[in-house]
Amino acid sequence: MCGFAATVIEWHKSNGRHDLPWQRHPSPYRVWVSEIMLQQTRVTTVIPYFLRFMERFPDVAALAAADIDQVLHLWTGLGYYARARNLHKAAQCIVERHQGRIPDNPEELQQLSGIGRSTAGAILALAHGRPAPILDGNVKRVLARCFAIAGFPGHGKTAAALWAKAESLVPGREVAAYTQGMMDLGATVCTRSLPACGQCPLSPRCLARIQGEVDRYPGKKPGRVLPVRQTVMHILQDESGRVLLEKRPPTGIWGSLYSLPEALPEFCVADESPIRLPLIRHSFTHFHLDISPLRYDVRPRHDAVADSDRWLWYSIADPAEVGLAAPASKLLASQSRQAGTIMTRMVQCRKYGKELPGLPAPPYPGEKGQQIFQTVSQQAWREWLAQQTMLINEKQLSLASAADREYLTGQMEKFLDNQDFDRAAGYVPPE
Ligand code: SF4
Repeated sequence: MCGFAATVIEWHKSNGRHDLPWQRHPSPYRVWVSEIMLQQTRVTTVIPYFLRFMERFPDVAALAAADIDQVLHLWTGLGYYARARNLHKAAQCIVERHQGRIPDNPEELQQLSGIGRSTAGAILALAHGRPAPILDGNVKRVLARCFAIAGFPGHGKTAAALWAKAESLVPGREVAAYTQGMMDLGATVCTRSLPACGQCPLSPRCLARIQGEVDRYPGKKPGRVLPVRQTVMHILQDESGRVLLEKRPPTGIWGSLYSLPEALPEFCVADESPIRLPLIRHSFTHFHLDISPLRYDVRPRHDAVADSDRWLWYSIADPAEVGLAAPASKLLASQSRQAGTIMTRMVQCRKYGKELPGLPAPPYPGEKGQQIFQTVSQQAWREWLAQQTMLINEKQLSLASAADREYLTGQMEKFLDNQDFDRAAGYVPPE
């Protein structure tokens, strides 16, 4: 074993991480799922996702048998959804072609969707204790600095030099401790900014530190200005507060996830002109997407039939188990927050009495939603929503403005308490 590997293993014994959930019973399946989740994502973020995933899909067979919507649902918030789709696809391949056993050689592992050379190396080293190199982001950084390997690691020549170095250092024994030690060193000591060289066991041999050029390694990605694209997302809300979502095609951005429709579907009728919400930007690796959200109250057209596999009426209060595209998730959360802010205190429906039917479902999550659900009749609520929409349009109000929300809250309370309120011009009082 070379001195480099011995130093890392010795450091890992007393300074490395030993109690991460995937380190308990480190089966190939657990190591594989954790490695995929850890790509581009911090350990602290991954832990709750990993635990939920293992509870729901404890082995390859359970994952292979699952519906992709369930897998994407458990992935919601973790990002880079291609990882989840590939995991699911690879699990099905393992069941069909490998009798449910995860391969234990690098060639077969790398033929599975989403498993590259480094992930294959991690499965072999951490689950089987086989000598195999890994080269994730943390390890690249440690090696680039320690051996002064210049250049952007995404470029072929630099990548080849890093792989050659990684391969030459793998010890013949205690390979799991070495591999975990390298990952931990990169994550906790040799960090991207402000590395703790004073606490680093590799400090005496680290060329970047000796040369005083730690910041130079690894080389930065050559800068380029990303193009900006534009789209519109429609927030279509029905009478009971559900929002219409559309399932994306399996390939392309947000593949198989549910998102807000970018075009108005034929089976919905909007009675009013939409409310324009503030623009949001979502950034991909290759471009920025500027999204203009438009919010409408809609009702279904009686003669139109929606394709049930493609469309979903999504209840914010009682969400379906599906994966959501990040901007849809963000806009739905903001809708829920805005609604919660408007409803700042419990309202009594004295105007209509409780003998009329109540709301079909809590309009908002949480205690406040329950209070409204139990005390407001459907008729009163609908009339207030109609009144509110008219007020917003007539007075050019914005739900993004705190002052406008406060005004609407006051008006809502007066309306539901049968007091004088600012009647919109188009408002017709109930019989
Ligand atoms: S000495 Fe500093 S730069 Fe070199 S590997 Fe250790 S932490 Fe990283």
